Amino acid sequence: MTALTQQLAARLAQLRQQGLARTRTSTETPQQVQLTLAGKPVINFCSNDYLGLANHPAVIAAFKAGADRYGVGSGSAHLICGHSTAHHALEEELAAFTGRDRALLFSTGYMANIGVISALLKSGDAVFEDRLNHASLLDGGLMSGARFQRYAHAEVTNLKPKLTAATGNRLIVTDGVFSMDGDCAPLPALAAAAHAAQAWLMVDDAHGLGVVGPHGGGLLAHYALSQHEVPVLMGTLGKGFGTFGAFVAGSETLIETLIQTARSYIYTTALPPAVAEATRASLKLLSTEDWRREHLHALATQFKQGARQLGLQLLETPPDQPCTAIVPIIIGDSSRAVAISKALMADGFWVSAIRPPTVPNGTARLRVTFSAEHQPWQVEQLLAALAKHKDLSPTVMQ
Ligand SMILES: *Cc1c(COP(=O)(O)O)cnc(C)c1O
Repeated sequence: MTALTQQLAARLAQLRQQGLARTRTSTETPQQVQLTLAGKPVINFCSNDYLGLANHPAVIAAFKAGADRYGVGSGSAHLICGHSTAHHALEEELAAFTGRDRALLFSTGYMANIGVISALLKSGDAVFEDRLNHASLLDGGLMSGARFQRYAHAEVTNLKPKLTAATGNRLIVTDGVFSMDGDCAPLPALAAAAHAAQAWLMVDDAHGLGVVGPHGGGLLAHYALSQHEVPVLMGTLGKGFGTFGAFVAGSETLIETLIQTARSYIYTTALPPAVAEATRASLKLLSTEDWRREHLHALATQFKQGARQLGLQLLETPPDQPCTAIVPIIIGDSSRAVAISKALMADGFWVSAIRPPTVPNGTARLRVTFSAEHQPWQVEQLLAALAKHKDLSPTVMQ
């Protein structure tokens, strides 16, 4: 073994020993509730396809028609020759949907976040991030060169003194619905704090769009926050929308600034136009079929009630927060979370164990997510399986 290989092998061995090694599972079917894994039927409780649109016939049909019309590859970056009428139409529809002047497509949410934050801030400025923000927001903040500060999760009182002490341009950055906790950022209070300090506020609503707010307009719509109050809205298209990609929505000036200066927008190939066509179809379903959200909320509520009866540890959220599709069960120990997840899988339920560094140390969890395509009996079955395995002790990881 070379020295490099030896060093890497030692690091991998350590991850395995700590119960932190990750594995991939290949699915053989579309992203849906009933999956087949290695020939075995499994009910999927870990997808972010919250509304069941990833495999919707109308979305597939739009994708196919898009490929027939535009081909597959976009051929170039947006600023060269890769920007199609499909991308442009989707941007206009997303702007209307979010009530913003303009929207701009990015190839992924990760790229949108690093691109926006580093376009808005430079050395001498300051960025304030919720401790539980998504990794892409943290990376964007670090990349920007601005002074990087975290504040206690969802605690505006913790943020305020940091905000007033800072100099330069100041950007507050938060998840809307938190990806691993399923709770919501206190957006009205954050917007007020930003306004008072003349700071900017950016919200990543990857898990709120389509799931909360009137017609799935997300957490900003839920709280009726305008573009003036939340100048930077970022959303992803690979979750509730069921397709792929991301967007940023805001003022004409913000979007034009991003087109001119966001490096992860400029120096990358545009999404395939057919993906944009598919997303236009999913946006129509997402914004008009309210039954999907109502059903989703009923399932999550049913699960929370059942889980509490089993004595499982849920996160308590303030009563004024909307119901989301993400319900974590806190286990604590990483190896134990993995053991329970494996036992559930053996019984035909796919629930992922989320471990550090994705979540803080000592808070490994089962992240249960719901889809509008789940049925109440499937939730009952999952609860029965959890009752059976909840007291499992950790297996020794090898
Ligand atoms: C998934 C996610 C992203 C990244 O989006 P991709 O399109 O998957 O790159 C960004 N922010 C949050 C909160 C997310 O959950």
